[in-house]
Amino acid sequence: MNNDIKEVFNLINYSKKICIAGHKAPDGDCIGSVMALYCFLKDRNKDITVLLDGEIPFNFKSFVDEEIIAKDYHKEEFDLMFVLDCSDSGRLGEYEPALKHSKKTVVIDHHKTNCGFGDISIIDPEMSSTGELLYDVLKTYGSISKEIATYIYIAILTDTGKFSYSNVSSSTHRKVAELIDLGVDVAEVNNLVYNSKPANVVRAFIDCVNGIELYHDNKFVITAITKNILEKNHAKMSDVDGIVEFLREINEVEVSCVLKEWEDHTKVSLRSKNNVDVSVVSAKYGGGGHAKAAGFEIKDTIENTKKLLIEEFKEYWVK
Ligand code: 5GP
Ligand code: MN
Repeated sequence: MNNDIKEVFNLINYSKKICIAGHKAPDGDCIGSVMALYCFLKDRNKDITVLLDGEIPFNFKSFVDEEIIAKDYHKEEFDLMFVLDCSDSGRLGEYEPALKHSKKTVVIDHHKTNCGFGDISIIDPEMSSTGELLYDVLKTYGSISKEIATYIYIAILTDTGKFSYSNVSSSTHRKVAELIDLGVDVAEVNNLVYNSKPANVVRAFIDCVNGIELYHDNKFVITAITKNILEKNHAKMSDVDGIVEFLREINEVEVSCVLKEWEDHTKVSLRSKNNVDVSVVSAKYGGGGHAKAAGFEIKDTIENTKKLLIEEFKEYWVK
């Protein structure tokens, strides 16, 4: 990995036009990592294009100057492209073609399903988050400002469920301690990321939770964020987050599932509490992720997808 990091910095030195891209429907790890790298490269006077397919959720807006995100991409050429937190190239969404228009590509990711599709791929499934891995990369050759530290902190905070998931190691905590020493305002970040929900978003959340159905001796719970619920509460899909984690809090639940109703497809989010590896079912349907957090998209209705998943998870708990 050290040679790869050295090579990444060689590439940065020789590149002028650099693209930074994250995954479709960006989350905290993706946004934090993209912004940390953006600040790091901006300090080195690079010409940077940020590509993110999907809206920035309301709770990350105060951390991001949306002016820096490309509005339309006209197949420009890049000397170097960074792809962050994407387990496969399809996760770039509408910006996947940018890969072909970049002389060199660097993939930095922590998904175990990532097969390494960059010229250089730095992938470590042991890392809690792409942000944690990126921090290791950046601090090897550069100094970390308070701003960069804050973005890395947001990435780790959100992808670890506030440092509570099994992807957290003692070294994650040591790195977070370093970030706090660099000036991260922990309480302020927590308020902006978690204690800032508009009432209509909370109402949409409650409507979705109200619609839960429990199966397989209450080990499997499922609900949907429907277009109806969003319209009724004037909420956006990108703003309603955290339901699938909340449902896993039910005592007997081993796997929680939230279906998101899009125009022409259903997006499936899965979370596991203990032994069920939900990335297996996700991979079966063309998606991916981690053992305890994974997802996929399917060209079918909410109702059909619900039936499919209830059936799919039945076999996990046959007595
Ligand atoms: P979420 O449920 O929050 O959208 O995603 C949870 C995890 O599953 C993330 O690590 C994410 O990268 C992965 N994931 C979610 N949807 C997809 C998908 O459609 N394809 C792949 N490859 N991974 C996904
Ligand atoms: Mn991540």
